[in-house]
Amino acid sequence: MVLTEELLINGDRTPAQSGEFTSLIDPATGEGWAKIAAGDAVDIDRAVQAADRIRQPWRQVNSRDRTRMLYRLAELIREHLESLAELESRNVGKPIRDARDEVNLAADCFEYYAGAINKVGGQTIPVAAAGTSLTFREPIGVCGLIAPWNFPIAITAWKLAPALAMGNTIVLKPASQTPLTALKLGELALAAGIPPGVLNIVTGSGSRAGEALVRHPLVRKISFTGSTEIGSHVMKLAADDIKRVTLELGGKSANLIFADADLEKAVPKAMWSVLGNAGQDCCARSRLLIERSIYDAFLEQLTQQFQTLKLGHPLDESTEIGSLISQNHRDRVAEYIQIGQVEGAKLLCGGYIPEGEHLRSGAYLQPAIFADVTPTMRIAQEEIFGPVVCAIPFDTEAEAIAIANQSFYGLSGSIWTRDISRALRVAKAIETGVLSINTGHSVHLEAPFGGVKRSGLGRELGLNVLDHYSEIKSVFIAE
Ligand code: NAP
Ligand code: MG
Repeated sequence: MVLTEELLINGDRTPAQSGEFTSLIDPATGEGWAKIAAGDAVDIDRAVQAADRIRQPWRQVNSRDRTRMLYRLAELIREHLESLAELESRNVGKPIRDARDEVNLAADCFEYYAGAINKVGGQTIPVAAAGTSLTFREPIGVCGLIAPWNFPIAITAWKLAPALAMGNTIVLKPASQTPLTALKLGELALAAGIPPGVLNIVTGSGSRAGEALVRHPLVRKISFTGSTEIGSHVMKLAADDIKRVTLELGGKSANLIFADADLEKAVPKAMWSVLGNAGQDCCARSRLLIERSIYDAFLEQLTQQFQTLKLGHPLDESTEIGSLISQNHRDRVAEYIQIGQVEGAKLLCGGYIPEGEHLRSGAYLQPAIFADVTPTMRIAQEEIFGPVVCAIPFDTEAEAIAIANQSFYGLSGSIWTRDISRALRVAKAIETGVLSINTGHSVHLEAPFGGVKRSGLGRELGLNVLDHYSEIKSVFIAE
């Protein structure tokens, strides 16, 4: 199958003005399977103009109608669950069962923010003057959304649903490698009754389409998810005209295992909290800090579990670990296997390209555990973004906290202990935006998500994100 996909501007599928396309490679097979329009600054300008033209009419749509449109979009996503999941699975190389969960999460996200539309507004404030002080919550205007390739439909929904709920219009630039579900979402949005021009999608490279979006003077806000390096660049560009910016960036999160933890749960969760999405997860708990008295036993069990993992084709129902996003990325991850060994860490398992013809032609990597890692090694400091976990022993609670915080990043993390006082003490001491205690999972649609330090700026999800997609106008009426 060779798909050909064009841009979505003002409700129409349209070629890039340059007439150029780029090819998509199926990461699990190495074969070309789609051609995608390569949009650039000219196309971004067309899309932004369309979004700007409909800005006023869209904000005037009454709240009940807008609510219905977002609910309808959620319904349509569920009706297309299987085809969207298959598209996502093939495009990213992720197991089909995970892709289904992520498509469902996208639908849940539109439902959640549909429900918020007529419940979140302004305030009246008791000021010290004769009159009434009140605030209006207003849309920001045209928002530029820039998405990464690891959870394309889920992260797109995290941005799109609250942005639409607050009455903004959108130009979305998906990651070049994973534009397919975003384009389908754009078509479903039209089918849900969202007017043409409210959501425009320009596929194309980050350096051309992405950068043009960030520079465009009519764009009032950029919401970016991706690497810290590009995030920093985006923030600098956005500074020129004081665009609002939210950034969800990289991570190198710590998983702290104390000796009193429930190891039966902690071992498999330690595995999945780094191997989910083949480790291509900003929240991956890729630094595994283990109290020394249980260090050897823990790693022995973990190694056993790593060796039972089922790698396979993403569309195979029994696959647990799919392919990485591309051979280039796999090679980058494999380089860290070399780096770790040169640095003196001990490779307990994995780190090689698995056997089997169909696995060799895809971008697979056997999940790896490094033991005896020290906190300053590159493999303990840099985001590897692949199926690699680095185990570091610690002796005291204070040392565990110090190691956890010895990072430029601060996105996620876990604490495993049966001692509730310790759990709370450590949770308060760790510099991170999100944290889970006695589980590996801390992302919930209804709760705020985001990073501290170089992991980002602002929050997504929950009701908090609505503040990042609206402006507050303060109005005083004299008596
Ligand atoms: P990336 O290379 O930074 O790209 C992210 C997006 O930015 C892509 O759409 C990319 O387009 C675009 N882009 C690239 N250069 C740009 C520029 N100069 N101006 C504007 N846009 C530009 O990140 P990635 O490799 O796709 O994703 C992996 C990274 O994302 C990891 O660091 C991961 O931790 C982070 N991430 C963070 C979160 C979070 O919520 N904190 C979630 C998921 C991922 P192209 O695709 O064309 O390069
Ligand atoms: Mg990239």
